[in-house]
Amino acid sequence: MSSHAGPSSHAAGKQPAGKGRKRDGPTGATTARASPCRRCLHNMAFWEVGDDIVACEDDEAGSDKCWRCRSNGKVCGHAVGMLKARGIRLAAAFAARPLDPDEIAAAQVPVKKALQALKNRKSMNPERVAAAQQEDVEEREERRTLAIESLVRNTNRMAESLETLVRHYETVHEEDINNAEDGDEDPINED
Ligand SMILES: [Zn+2]
Ligand SMILES: [Zn+2]
Repeated sequence: MSSHAGPSSHAAGKQPAGKGRKRDGPTGATTARASPCRRCLHNMAFWEVGDDIVACEDDEAGSDKCWRCRSNGKVCGHAVGMLKARGIRLAAAFAARPLDPDEIAAAQVPVKKALQALKNRKSMNPERVAAAQQEDVEEREERRTLAIESLVRNTNRMAESLETLVRHYETVHEEDINNAEDGDEDPINED
């Protein structure tokens, strides 16, 4: 156990007793979500071999929360963008049978990174978030401009070779014409 203080204080299992209500366990049948919620994704990202298998599941309680968030009284936040795409892969790795710990480990890293990036953005002030987003946009634009420029360069080069080719062809063709005309000027002898 790490003594590092973090937001992961939601160690599963040890719920304080005596709340008068069953806190753990789904209601009725469960359906695993292809795209897990942020909290379950966090658990998946930090899962280790030997831990219980994590899945983000809806049950029959009709809540918009997954049953784990609901039974823990937590916010059930949707993953979006990069985190969602990476989360889907991680959830698929957890759903696979037999379980492939290597595949899980490989899918955990990008999710951890995406979670960390979200955390970093949250701790940034709005100006820095805007600046970071602006940098992203500028970088994308620059890449696109470079791509277009190289396309234009290639097209120009192709046009030049084509021109050279046409000039060559015309030269050759001209000689052909001259030869042909010479031939014509040497007609069949009238005899
Ligand atoms: Zn969940
Ligand atoms: Zn949830």
